[in-house]
Amino acid sequence: MGRRLGQHFLSRKSVLEQIAATACPQQADTLIEIGPGRGSLTSHLLARANRVIAIEVDQVLVQYLRSRYREEPRLTLVEGDVLKTDLAQWGPVTVVGNLPYYITSPIIEKTLALGDGLLGAVFLVQKEVAERLTARPHTREYGFLSVQTQLASTPELVFTVPAAAFHPQPKVDSAVVRLLPKSGRPSIDRPAFLSFVSQCFRQKRKKIRNNLLGSYDRALLDSIPETSQRAEQLSIPEFISLYRKTVGARG
Ligand code: SAM
Repeated sequence: MGRRLGQHFLSRKSVLEQIAATACPQQADTLIEIGPGRGSLTSHLLARANRVIAIEVDQVLVQYLRSRYREEPRLTLVEGDVLKTDLAQWGPVTVVGNLPYYITSPIIEKTLALGDGLLGAVFLVQKEVAERLTARPHTREYGFLSVQTQLASTPELVFTVPAAAFHPQPKVDSAVVRLLPKSGRPSIDRPAFLSFVSQCFRQKRKKIRNNLLGSYDRALLDSIPETSQRAEQLSIPEFISLYRKTVGARG
């Protein structure tokens, strides 16, 4: 069993049940589980959802799951890379997973890109990542990941999970985060906006102006007051306003 694929299996039943209850406080219709592993969380999810779509990249684990759940018509096993899977094909869904930590950020982006097709998401991630997802401006943890997540959702750190609850144990503690999709999301080209925000955060200690020089006209940057701040000082509405003034002005 390789650690290469972020394979840290959760064994503590109370934690598994708590994750399932956070994802489905009431009976859910369709859930997508990312990285079911050997199915420890899957069983708890099947007790609370009408249908579970489980996406697993490891062939050996998929074979094991096919045999373990051969009598379970409500489980659809998808063998493949979640990042190459069209998550919108199953209609409106809740997305859940004890995530492979090496691809946490792209999985979150893919989940949030579901837009109206996302009912909610509950992920087990590194505690430090959970703190970045939920961070507010003017804090050390606030960065690209915070803006990426909070643009379309309200994230909440629900509870922490000690490394001892996993096998093999990861080196760090973990936490469960819930992402509630925001209604009234800003109408903005999400990939273009996030690419702009990532440029603003390129060197966190530098002023935004210095991070953007090279891509934008110097006189334009000097005419926008926000560019004299550091990216960690800007709220999402301020980033949107800056984006419109800079990218909009470039045409
Ligand atoms: N859900 C199980 C549990 O809690 O015990 C396993 C969680 S383990 C942290 C992450 C799982 O994601 C592993 O089973 C791993 O094989 C799978 N995985 C890793 N990369 C993946 C990818 N790109 N697409 C789908 N699954 C992936």
